[in-house]
Amino acid sequence: MSNNNWKNGLVYLLLIFLISACSSVKLKTFEYPKPVDTFTREIQYQDKREYNINDVVFADNQFDGARLNGFEQLNDSTFQVTILPENEPINQSPHFAFRIWSKHSQTVYVKLNYPTSTHRYVPKRSTDGENWKPIDSTAYQLIDSAKNAFLKVSIDNKKLWIAAQELKTSTEATNWSKQIANHKDVRFKIIGKSKLKRDLVGLDIYNGDPTGKDIIVLLSRQHPPEVSGYLAMQSFVEELLEENRLQKDFRNNYRILVFPLVNPDGVDLGHWRHNAGGIDLNRDWAYYRQEEVKTVVQSIVDIANESKNKVILGLDFHSTQEDLYYSFSDDMHSDIYPFKDYWIGAIDNAIPNYTPDDQPFPLGTPISKGWFYKQFNAESLTYEIGDETPRDFIKLKAEVAAREMMKLLILR
Ligand SMILES: [Zn+2]
Repeated sequence: MSNNNWKNGLVYLLLIFLISACSSVKLKTFEYPKPVDTFTREIQYQDKREYNINDVVFADNQFDGARLNGFEQLNDSTFQVTILPENEPINQSPHFAFRIWSKHSQTVYVKLNYPTSTHRYVPKRSTDGENWKPIDSTAYQLIDSAKNAFLKVSIDNKKLWIAAQELKTSTEATNWSKQIANHKDVRFKIIGKSKLKRDLVGLDIYNGDPTGKDIIVLLSRQHPPEVSGYLAMQSFVEELLEENRLQKDFRNNYRILVFPLVNPDGVDLGHWRHNAGGIDLNRDWAYYRQEEVKTVVQSIVDIANESKNKVILGLDFHSTQEDLYYSFSDDMHSDIYPFKDYWIGAIDNAIPNYTPDDQPFPLGTPISKGWFYKQFNAESLTYEIGDETPRDFIKLKAEVAAREMMKLLILR
């Protein structure tokens, strides 16, 4: 080969390299109309211990997901549970979870006391930490102008669990993910570690060659107590894995990435809102200062590049006072616009006596919904479930939503 040919060859290789480098997506940082400081802040850890009142009544917080910052006797039959947040400022979502028991069978009153907040969650009870039901409404009342709550409970020498929501810890999320991964189209991955070195789990779902398949991303539990949203995510994923024509066609044509538990430290530490870095993770989707968000966004971008896919839809599952969908305002046109209007309309048609509540709003703070749009021009919705939405309705609606999404996307 002559010297000139060598030079031409090198120029050619360089061009190929540049073209392929340009066609790959790079993780970008973004400006938002309402920026948020997401640099790490200090959190207060709970004193993990057993409380013993005169060797008769006991309470503890020695399990993952617990939140109990104080336990004291107010009078013969009344005990006060004090609940504090991981740090402040923080929104009003005071999560609590503790166990209470007694040497003798007796009925006691428990005051849920929030020095810095206001009661939100209807208490749930369990005798094994796995099967939960809401406390009977006749045994539960709000006091102090609805700031605190008062419960009547029968206790004996077996530990009774009382919590804001069903306990769904990082262990539960990992076990569920591994069980889901028994399906041949699901790959279980540990994509990285949280700040306190808990596993960040990802599920990668598709059939056949992933190259060129458009990507759907599902996220859950950036906010620790938002268990009703997490239950919706689980039912949504399970519906995608059914063995009917629709689901099989969908897995042949799309790639679905699931991040079931984005904030495992916050969940296991019984946090109200933040991660172990003291930050609301759903405000960190601009500069990725927190390990959990950084790992998830890098994983999405790497997968998109690796098999030349494009993310077209991101769904982030949360909980709030009632069921609703936070969507884009109508001036924001994603690559699959107007998917959202068709999708919400289809859910509306498929479920009698239910009207989906669509709440569009423009870009504001750096939340995941904005990131999917800015990074990929993807459609995105925050899928909100009410704290106390009946669990069977959460499942029904998630299954319908998953099927209607698949039908619309498979036909596009
Ligand atoms: Zn949330």
